[in-house]
Formats: sequence, structure tokens, C-alpha cells
Amino acid sequence: MKITRITVFHVELPLEYPYWLSGGRLKFESLDATLVKLETDAGITGWGEGTPWGHTYVPAHGPGIRAGIHTMAASVIGLDPRRLLDVERAMDLALPGHFYAKAPIDMACWDIAGQAARMPIADLMGGGSRTPRPIASSVGAKTLEETRVVIERYRRRGYIAHSVKIGGDVERDIARIRDIEKTRLPGEIILYDVNRGWTRQQALRVMSSCEDLNVTVEQPCETLDDIAAVSGRHATPVSVDESLVTLQDAVRIAQGGLAELFGIKLNRVGGLTRAARIRDIGLAHGIDMFVMATGGSVLADTEALHLAATIPDDNCRAVWACQDMLTVDIAGGRGPRNIEGHLHLPEEPGLGVHPNEDGLGEPVGIYQ
Ligand code: MG
Repeated sequence: MKITRITVFHVELPLEYPYWLSGGRLKFESLDATLVKLETDAGITGWGEGTPWGHTYVPAHGPGIRAGIHTMAASVIGLDPRRLLDVERAMDLALPGHFYAKAPIDMACWDIAGQAARMPIADLMGGGSRTPRPIASSVGAKTLEETRVVIERYRRRGYIAHSVKIGGDVERDIARIRDIEKTRLPGEIILYDVNRGWTRQQALRVMSSCEDLNVTVEQPCETLDDIAAVSGRHATPVSVDESLVTLQDAVRIAQGGLAELFGIKLNRVGGLTRAARIRDIGLAHGIDMFVMATGGSVLADTEALHLAATIPDDNCRAVWACQDMLTVDIAGGRGPRNIEGHLHLPEEPGLGVHPNEDGLGEPVGIYQ
């Protein structure tokens, strides 16, 4: 089987509500999504998606994905999409780094491989759990009052897991954590996500003063060096996501005991092929996981769900999904959707959901 054509679409995905990060420093109102269709000489078509969280969140942006695919396309055409390692190596040779640009191609190849094998991607990866995965909400609000309102809105939709964005101001962050913990429901999973917003000293002050609450803090500081510097000086469990990009990062976090949790972002790490290795490093070191695409439509959420299904139930905390935050649905209601705060693995072969191509507009790139 050979890849015969790559078609690229650019779609804007507006957010239903404005979204704030880093204590209000960064505002997001729409996501720049790249949808990629891979066609083969066997008549099987696969879809991938790359939707970074805007242009200002991490070093990844939509125009970069499209430029990366333009650069790599000639090296990918003609390859067998089921030979994922060949595709990965060809992309690495054509363009070192730029994992986020490679992720949509990797995703579309897994979609094709699953369809060819007549298996859902998670099963093709070695076995997918059918235990529904809790969906983590993303609570990006400016004030304490808004935070309460947003969490309540998600609770009404059935969500039991929440990623609450904090960071930037020590006193305000401590107050917000204590306020939310007062109203945390039994069984609820809450992650306090700093998004790199604290200095080392700020991280120590907040994490030390909240030790009695046993809360988990995600990505407290900018780099792994920063996180390592405060590690062992507080008793608050830490999750790392934005600084978890390469296999070397995963090894360093695991061996250094820098985190109890991995937040695997599929677009950031380069797709399912690379993410599966990071998963295994985590499992080998007793590290539990959250899985997310980074952003995007139900396609991206479904990719995250497939990886989450390959993590043992006890080690998979939640998947973060973006579809409920958007005002557009490119798949017309198909694919895994929120059922009482959980996503259920699709049984269709491959990814299990494709977009309505008619609604994606004219392609911005065709390579063949
Ligand atoms: Mg995070």
C-alpha cells in the first residue's frame, strides 16, 4: 500500500467562551486547525488533525504545521502508511524536530493502518481498554468567581475531572486553590495547571502552603531545570506536560522523580507513535497519565482517547477533550462524545471518525 496524495485543509475553530491562561496574561478566542487527508492506492483514506492551542501557548502554530507538511510531503508520498516507523524516519530526515507538524501525518497513517487491519487504532497498538475515560474540563478563567461559574457549568455537563488554570500571583493562586478545594465533590479529579506561570520561588511558596490539601499541580515552572530545582523541597504532587516533548524529557522526569504524572500532549510530542514510547517510560516508573491532543475537533479528541485506552485503567487519570469548548463541529455529531463526563472508545476500524469534507472549505495544499 502506498500514500498517493496528501490534502491539507485550514479550519478556524472558534471557542464558545474566551479562554485565559497564566492568570489572564494570554487570551484565546479561536483555534487554528489543520486537517490532513491521506489517500492511498488501496482506496483507504486516513485523516489527521493538528490544532495547537493558538500561537502563543507553546512553540507550535497552525501555519508551522502547514509549512512543515509542505516541506515533508515529497518524502512521505509513496511510503506504506502502515509502516509507521518508516514514515517517522522519513519525516525526521526531511525536517528535524517540528514534532507538532508531524503529528497529523502520523495520526492519518494510524487511521489507515487501523482500517486496513479492521481494528480500532487502540487495538492495533496492542489492546484498547473499553473502560470509558473521564473527560477533563479546561477551566481557563480570570477571577475566582468566574472559576466557580465555569466549573459548575462543566459539572452540569457531567464532568468529574477538571484542569483549573492558575499561575502568576501567589496570594491569588493560594486563595483560588483553597476556594475550589472547599467545594470539591467526592470522586472529582482536579488538576491545578500553572502553565509555566511561576518562578521557582513562587512555586515553592504556593506548593508548600497547600501541602495540607494534597492537590496536584501541573507544569509549575517554565523548564525541567526549574521543576528539578524545587523538587524535593515541597510535598505537592507534580504533573508535567508542556516540558514533556521528547523521549529524553520523559526519561529525565522519570529517573529524576520530577513528577508523579505525565500529561501527554499528542500534537506536542509528534503523534501516537512517539507518545506510545513516552507512555511506556511512564508505566515503567509508576507514573500515571493524562492524555490530550492539545486542542481541536472530535478527531483530535478521538486520537487522545485511543492512546488513553492503551494505558491500564488504574494508570490513566483522564483525557482532556476540546470539542465541548467549540462552536463548530466538523464531524456532524459523529465520533466519541461526552456521555456523563466520559468518552467511550469507538469500535469502528481506524480512528473511528472522519470530518464532513464539504464543510472544510477549499484545500490549502495538495501534494501527489
Ligand atoms: Mg497543562
